[in-house]
Amino acid sequence: MFKLNHTHDPAATCWLASAQTAGCDFPIQNLPFGVFRLRGSNQAFRGGVAIGDQVVDMAALCASGTLSSLAALACETCAQSSLNDFMALGPQAWQTLRHALFALLHTSADAVTQGKVQACLIPQCAIEHKLPTRIGDYTDFYTSIDHATNVGKLIRPDDPLSANFQWLPIAYHGRVSSIGVSGQQFRRPMGQSMAPGAKAPVYGACARLDYELELAIYVGQGNRQGEPVSLAQAENHIFGISLLNDWSARDHQFWEMTPLGPFLGKNFATTVSPWIVTLEALAPYRLPWNRPADHPQPLAYLEDAGNRDHGALDIQLEVWMDTAQRQAQQAGPAKLTHTSFKHQYWSIAQMLTQHTVGGCNLQSGDVLGSGTISGPTAQEAGAMIELTQGGRQPLRLDNGEERAFLQDGDSVILRGWCEKPGAARVGFGECRGQVLPAIA
Ligand code: CA
Repeated sequence: MFKLNHTHDPAATCWLASAQTAGCDFPIQNLPFGVFRLRGSNQAFRGGVAIGDQVVDMAALCASGTLSSLAALACETCAQSSLNDFMALGPQAWQTLRHALFALLHTSADAVTQGKVQACLIPQCAIEHKLPTRIGDYTDFYTSIDHATNVGKLIRPDDPLSANFQWLPIAYHGRVSSIGVSGQQFRRPMGQSMAPGAKAPVYGACARLDYELELAIYVGQGNRQGEPVSLAQAENHIFGISLLNDWSARDHQFWEMTPLGPFLGKNFATTVSPWIVTLEALAPYRLPWNRPADHPQPLAYLEDAGNRDHGALDIQLEVWMDTAQRQAQQAGPAKLTHTSFKHQYWSIAQMLTQHTVGGCNLQSGDVLGSGTISGPTAQEAGAMIELTQGGRQPLRLDNGEERAFLQDGDSVILRGWCEKPGAARVGFGECRGQVLPAIA
């Protein structure tokens, strides 16, 4: 785990005024990584780091001559069109580059340095993103006991949790090709569904389209096939975290998923936010990982003193919805949910270790979805199927619109940040996606 250091000092300021704006997601203590270019241009995509309302162009920074030795090497690697090679360099290189950027952007940097770095800044309002890594594999976990219980009750009211849930972080292997970066638009999927009591399924457009509030955990350094990663070492293999929306076609999913798991119900689109917030930036927001005394305790390979001490993360999360009608009314998006990742039943380290114990090799740039994040109260549910009790109790938005599930034209916006007294606010930006009509 990254220790607290001078880059977490809440009093530290950047010479760029917008980094100090109240509520800013990207102060000098954050420094998240993404891949970008000028919007609408045919420029090469390259790595960038968000600061205030600007992005530090890592290709330009390499050429500025402001970095040396390992920081210069890390910057050069980070300037590529995906972050895989940079992330594969490992924690020492990530930390060296973060600390070098912190020094360059800090108010105490000399005027010549400030001038050189200023010349590497591009306004975030002028850029477009692509996925931050070439994702080789995407695995989606199912690690919120509140989500699993809420959804389980809709299917098996007397026995909502599957027998394995409290013993291991369960997951399925997802689809990479349809993962898109924030701003993604996708067609409502077609597929089979089986109505309750019907004798045969029908083929048609999804009638129960949903979102899932999740985090994307990016693998930094991978592991060799056949060489599992211990729980004590797991976080050394995690580069950072972004927001993830696991769009879900519930009617298709519940018909097809027995016995092999989700297929078309999940493979049409997944959206991630563009900026990866590093584990080092999140260090002030670690919490002990606990398991209630009357629950099964983890088997030894999923148990570790460090995980008990700081395995959890207090990341505030919100889901917002925008609709065509709200836009016409200039009403702005409506908030549906606010919860925290701290309630998750399994930690990010336990997910990574579980993935490797059978010998599976993770690769730099792989994504682990956290699974839907729901908190302990009904208002903290991370999916519409929970908020609406399976569609039976539609949500009523403050402009009078109702939703049992998503309609064509609806946008879902995920937001995340960490905030507490004595630490700088660290934000994730947003993860936005929009439903377009099906092509029948
Ligand atoms: Ca999911």
